[in-house]
Amino acid sequence: MSELAARLSAIDAQIADAARRSGRDPAELTRIVVTKFHPSSLVRELHALGVSDVGENRQQELSAKQAELAALELRWHFIGQAQTNKAASIRRSADAVHSVDRERLADALHRAAEDETPLDVLAQINLTDDPGRGGVAPGAVEALVEHILALPSLRLRGVMAVAPLDEEPASAFARLRGIADRVIALAPEASWISAGMTGDFAEAIAAGATHLRIGSAITGPRPERG
Ligand SMILES: *Cc1c(COP(=O)(O)O)cnc(C)c1O
Repeated sequence: MSELAARLSAIDAQIADAARRSGRDPAELTRIVVTKFHPSSLVRELHALGVSDVGENRQQELSAKQAELAALELRWHFIGQAQTNKAASIRRSADAVHSVDRERLADALHRAAEDETPLDVLAQINLTDDPGRGGVAPGAVEALVEHILALPSLRLRGVMAVAPLDEEPASAFARLRGIADRVIALAPEASWISAGMTGDFAEAIAAGATHLRIGSAITGPRPERG
């Protein structure tokens, strides 16, 4: 078995353990492998190992890899901060955009629709006190959600967040869970909770995460990028 295959199966076993410990069925979890900074050859290897969902955080890298690997059956998740002027490129390459954190970005993604297929989007929530981090402030979530729900080419699927560095992930994800419940009250089908990375996926699973975004634990360390 390659090192990549060994890491992938080890993490999948840890995900399944964490799910069972939380009384959850591992089959309800989607494991997204975050491949940012890695070459498309690695995405190809992951696909050969059965990976179906991959995540990227930069538009250019997403677009290049998705174009190169378009023949492979893969779902591409955009998880990075998005500039409004890149919305059309993101929409063309991504199957789901996890990082919709403002109305202008939602509008730009909506305007970029080229056909009838709706784009899956998540509202990114800022769990820190720093407005410079990505995400909508918890107090503004309902307004953003209502705005997205009024845009017919976007399909709101749920919420996404990154745990703050200076807080226990369990308490941050508990807050996220409360916000997710508020979103579900407005949009019952928006039940995805995208949370959990290499360092905190077990806590995210315990708090109800449905979509895990795991990079380095599976891919190995990211190559330096100058
Ligand atoms: C890079 C990244 C991840 C994955 O991080 P790891 O710690 O390598 O698992 C998850 N979510 C977002 C938003 C990221 O940018």
